[in-house]
Amino acid sequence: MINVVNPSSGEVFANAAECTEEQLDEVMALAASAQRSWAALGDERRSVLDKAADAVDEAVDRIADVLTAEQGKPVPLARREVAGVATRLRYFAGLDLAPDVLDDGRVEVRHQPVGVVAAITPWNFPVGLAGWKLAPALRAGCAVVLKPSPFTPLSTVLLGEVLNGVLPAGVVSVVTGGDQLGALVVSHPVPRKVSFTGSVRGGIAVNTAAAKDLKRVTLELGGNDPAIVLDDADPDAIAAGLFWGAFINTGQACAAVKRVYVPEHRRHELVEALAAIGESVRVGDPTAEGTQLGPLTTRPQFDRVAELVDDALTHGAKAASGGAAVEGPGYFYEPTVLTDVDDGVRVVDEEQFGPVLPVVGYRDLDEAVRRANATDFGLGSSVWTSDPDRGADVASRIEAGMTWINAHPVSSVEHPFGGIKHSGLGVENGIDGLKSFTDMHLVVRP
Ligand code: NAD
Repeated sequence: MINVVNPSSGEVFANAAECTEEQLDEVMALAASAQRSWAALGDERRSVLDKAADAVDEAVDRIADVLTAEQGKPVPLARREVAGVATRLRYFAGLDLAPDVLDDGRVEVRHQPVGVVAAITPWNFPVGLAGWKLAPALRAGCAVVLKPSPFTPLSTVLLGEVLNGVLPAGVVSVVTGGDQLGALVVSHPVPRKVSFTGSVRGGIAVNTAAAKDLKRVTLELGGNDPAIVLDDADPDAIAAGLFWGAFINTGQACAAVKRVYVPEHRRHELVEALAAIGESVRVGDPTAEGTQLGPLTTRPQFDRVAELVDDALTHGAKAASGGAAVEGPGYFYEPTVLTDVDDGVRVVDEEQFGPVLPVVGYRDLDEAVRRANATDFGLGSSVWTSDPDRGADVASRIEAGMTWINAHPVSSVEHPFGGIKHSGLGVENGIDGLKSFTDMHLVVRP
């Protein structure tokens, strides 16, 4: 069994099963046969997915309570995350996957399901990210074997139970276990595709293992997203957007703002505005009404955030707000805005994945863009300005999969989402995300 900890108390509150290799073989065999009949259902799948969405909607409170208990996010956010799965199921149920027809109908490009999909998820948005993979995979005609993070397995198990009340047996299976189980899932001969969200280290391991039998992969990995503030932006007007872009989900979001570059002469003003929000935010029990930020989800992540802040303070940074753990049980950390900090310090160069935001001054926009790009990551990014056209212009010089103007991060089920460089491979969401669960089959008539 795996111990599951409630990050608000630091105590074990439940267990999840540790799936054995033999059990995984059984699950895979069932998935392989279920996938064939699921694919054969054709467009009938769409109405089944609509029913699955209704079932998720009915179970929102039940799943959200478990999500909050194991992950730590405030209950209203947990509910929104679970409800997002229903939205995705309906969206993909509504998407047409007809063949592309070329050459006056002589040539068809059909979109065949890839087969069984191995879906592997992290602990920051366990239910939401499961939905990112399940909804398009099921719509395409794939069966899914889903392995959640060992830190947050229970809400995914519950989601699987709810979906299995509607879907034919074996179309969705949830297997729980550690990284070793993830490796077994990826190297198993049954899946034809791996959809992985997690760390760069994990993504490289997955890609290497998947290469052995040419499994398709989609990798959504980490980021060190820069936000570049232009000299025409009003610090007071943008502070709230920047703050929540960084501290969303207690900073544990792949495409959160991870570092801010601001013109040196406006740095003080912006830091003051961000710190004022940081001081006023309600951090605490995620089940209490009005709580805005819960704890970090895992003990290792809490230790890492504390280490990065201590390192920055040792290197001359100042905490304009926060700078320390919250006293008492659980993995709570004060919302921390750091100033007098620069590139070359770990909290700027690395992905902190926590409630800490370094604000770095720049003197020249070219230099800011160069620093923003000086990383192996390339997930999200943003430009903050009173002139969106100028923002879009600067965006074209940023090396990233996504750049938002005056917002960060924004994701829509309709828009492709993905990173470049070490932040990932392929995209999720939208029609491109759906097609990533298909192989093309070209049929040419004489
Ligand atoms: P992680 O890579 O440690 O684990 C993610 C999942 O992969 C877990 O289920 C884990 O058990 C499994 N896993 C680990 N090693 C594996 C292997 N060799 N083979 C197969 N499976 C393996 O990541 P994490 O710490 O859970 O999540 C945090 C990371 O995820 C951060 O870097 C964050 O930026 C990233 N993330 C990215 C996105 C995105 O969409 N780009 C979204 C959320 C999180």
